[in-house]
Amino acid sequence: MVIVTKTTIAEEKLNMMMADFREKGLDIDLIRGKDSIVMGLVGDTHALDADRLLLDPDVERIMRVQEPFKKANRKFHPNNTVIEVGNAKIGDGKSFVVMAGPCSVESKNQILTVAKGVKKSGASFLRGGAYKPRTSPYSFQGLELEGLELLKEARNETNLPIVTEIMCPSLVETFNENVDIIQVGARNMQNFDLLKELGKIQKPILLKRGLSATIEEWLMSAEYIMAGGNHNVILCERGIRTFETYTRNTLDLSAVLAVKKMSHLPVVIDPSHSAGISWMVNPLSLAALAVGADGIIVEVHNDPKNALCDGAQSLDLSQYESLMTKLRAMSVHFGKEIK
Ligand code: PEP
Ligand code: MN
Repeated sequence: MVIVTKTTIAEEKLNMMMADFREKGLDIDLIRGKDSIVMGLVGDTHALDADRLLLDPDVERIMRVQEPFKKANRKFHPNNTVIEVGNAKIGDGKSFVVMAGPCSVESKNQILTVAKGVKKSGASFLRGGAYKPRTSPYSFQGLELEGLELLKEARNETNLPIVTEIMCPSLVETFNENVDIIQVGARNMQNFDLLKELGKIQKPILLKRGLSATIEEWLMSAEYIMAGGNHNVILCERGIRTFETYTRNTLDLSAVLAVKKMSHLPVVIDPSHSAGISWMVNPLSLAALAVGADGIIVEVHNDPKNALCDGAQSLDLSQYESLMTKLRAMSVHFGKEIK
């Protein structure tokens, strides 16, 4: 951290400030300029409250040099985190995982049909929402516990591990017992009570980027989970809200590159919620492979026109099959393996 003060600061006050920083274990590089005094603080400054320091009328400016996330930071953990679930390795730089399934679990027939269909074309995971965060309280809210049971049935039938969204801290135990990867949706990225509870378990967490979250805010949410002791976090870029209205969201492909540089955590892309329109999903999935994502989570429905949620962005089973064919062909060029 760099603190810039006025040159008119009383010498005694400056010495007191420096003594306080030293007491906190920090070293100080002091530069006395013509117009200002610059203090370079060396050491762990995470506990310093920059806003409070700025209240001092002698302090002109504060610049943070270190990122506020530590456990998620590649600087302190240079090797990629690899999350293993069943046969899948997420984040090893060699595998491209595909999580596929409907937005919501709607019925036994629907989830089994989709699960068997995606399994046939090739998928590493079955996705499906049992608890749905809907904008309108009048929209289908999900089958809840019954949905979880149906997902488990689909897992038994296909051997595909399941990914499903949690919305509330009180369900962490249930999800921990029943689910293979717990999804935190965009709307709950900053539900800190939920993140803290998820930090207490060891189950992999798929953390979606918030609707308008910066990369740093997203990584700070990962930090919440990791600070509690759960280091199994997979980041998911699912498009952000911008001024553009043609697509449902704007897929921030460059965020994948940025996050890969800043963090050691695996990153997957959700092309479905990014686009909101099914015909864009396949090209965006190929872009995910090209940009170096560790996989995708994609919505697939046996009958998109009659889906209870997100039908417009859902692939049907034949579109999914063609996606997998293209992904497999392209994966060779990018040194990635799709199981
Ligand atoms: C979903 O995956 O169905 C979902 C609700 O996604 P998001 O949280 O990204 O909107
Ligand atoms: Mn959806």
